[in-house]
Amino acid sequence: MEHRAEARVDVSAIASNISLLKSISGVDLLAVVKADAYGHGLIEIGLTSEKSGADWLGVALLEEAISLRTHGVNIPILAWLVPPGSDFRAAHKHNIDIAVSTIKAFNEISQLKVMARIHIEVDTGMSRGGFLDEWAEFLKADFSAVEVVGIFSHFARADEPGEKQNSDQLAKFNSMVAELAAVGVHPPLKHISNSAATLKNHGAAYDLVRAGIAMYGLSPDVKTLGESKSLGLKPAMQLRAKLHLVKRVPAGSFVGYSAAATTTADTHLGVVAMGYADGIPRIAQGAGVFIEGKRAPIIGRVSMDQFVVDLGPETTAVSGDWVIVFGDGTHGEYTADDWGAASQSINYEIVTRIGPRVPRIYAPHVY
Ligand SMILES: *Cc1c(COP(=O)(O)O)cnc(C)c1O
Repeated sequence: MEHRAEARVDVSAIASNISLLKSISGVDLLAVVKADAYGHGLIEIGLTSEKSGADWLGVALLEEAISLRTHGVNIPILAWLVPPGSDFRAAHKHNIDIAVSTIKAFNEISQLKVMARIHIEVDTGMSRGGFLDEWAEFLKADFSAVEVVGIFSHFARADEPGEKQNSDQLAKFNSMVAELAAVGVHPPLKHISNSAATLKNHGAAYDLVRAGIAMYGLSPDVKTLGESKSLGLKPAMQLRAKLHLVKRVPAGSFVGYSAAATTTADTHLGVVAMGYADGIPRIAQGAGVFIEGKRAPIIGRVSMDQFVVDLGPETTAVSGDWVIVFGDGTHGEYTADDWGAASQSINYEIVTRIGPRVPRIYAPHVY
């Protein structure tokens, strides 16, 4: 059976991006597969990453980590959004490393007395995850019942490499590492780099880099770092959908809810079988689809299950034809970057929000 839409994921692109990132950093790579591998599929991408040379996997949630383990992932896994009250015993049982940001979570883990593996997260200036106000108190803790594998932090502005906040965060990181050493704790792994820092801040690689968006072949920020192609990355996801129907309409036709658009000439409209329930942003304007070797822009508002594109007066497209919603851009199709810009958002959100009713197909792209 053919689907009405599919997200095609080229796993060879992921493998290529992983080897590029490893060669750039020269240190171990943690492949970030949180949020269903940025919409690409947690298990397939987790297993692909392991096969393609990733040394670690990283996720936000404990559930994500356990799911990877039960599906056969063997490399180390770090989960970093695991609040107090979580099932730390299960984490230990599945050999999952846990990031610790609070004394409360540390105490719960320590009380298990199983030498659970932890990475201490420190806040070096982003004011999000990591120890900050509790740090001095935490340094007095008894570390004898846990195995401190790592200490890490996260950059707020790695996609703006010239910003002083990057060097300030590094200095703060180094001083917190030294403070931990002063109480006798020497974690073997120090890590702070995300994709943007891996690509642009080579002095910040330490022992491990944590790459998400770049592993999927997307630029962390097109404006400041350039497009994926210029970075040597290969976008792994191509999103395509079928034209539910094609119809001729006269100039002056209202299109869609609230009659938010009106045709300015006689034309053909194509109804694309995807909508905001599938992750197409309702506010998207200025993106569209690729068919017959050219772009057909969105006209009117995106609906829940469908949106309308202007195919132009000369089209030969018919109902049932495939259109490319976004791809790697090499043939002129819209990219996830274009969809981000058209939606007051970023490529991260575009791929991550592709909904669960869109099947992920692991195969090369089609045109
Ligand atoms: C999401 C995340 C990353 C990956 O960020 P990218 O910009 O996608 O490379 C790295 N580290 C942490 C802690 C994260 O939450």
